[in-house]
Amino acid sequence: MAYDPENVFAKIARGEIPSRKVVETEHSLAFHDIRPQAPIHVLVIPKGPYQDFESFAARASAEEIVDWVRAAGRAAREVGAVEGGFRVLANSGTDAHQEVPHLHLHIFAGGDLGPMIGLRRRG
Ligand code: AMP
Repeated sequence: MAYDPENVFAKIARGEIPSRKVVETEHSLAFHDIRPQAPIHVLVIPKGPYQDFESFAARASAEEIVDWVRAAGRAAREVGAVEGGFRVLANSGTDAHQEVPHLHLHIFAGGDLGPMIGLRRRG
């Protein structure tokens, strides 16, 4: 599927939609999730046109990848998530219920985050 440049995170990256910014670098942006699912919930996106984790891993430059990972670490520190601990998660594709078709890393923190993943049982 082709990347949709009109998705909401592409608009945030271009500054066309406001966000509560945490960290901005040359290639990445971290901002607070609009519907937080933990006391602290931040999203970290590359500014480039990458739909999901796999396309970013396959096509992004080494500079973009390093920038995104470092921006995520800086964002975690900026919101005070490092001391108590935090979780990172990137939903990719249908089975993971990815809603926005632009790569984003969730950072959850601010209290006990419970079990790692809620898997639906078969049968
Ligand atoms: P995912 O299901 O992994 O694609 O997660 C998409 C996330 O984007 C959800 O947690 C939404 O609350 C969040 N979200 C959607 N629109 C916005 C927005 N305009 N600003 C900040 N977060 C948003």
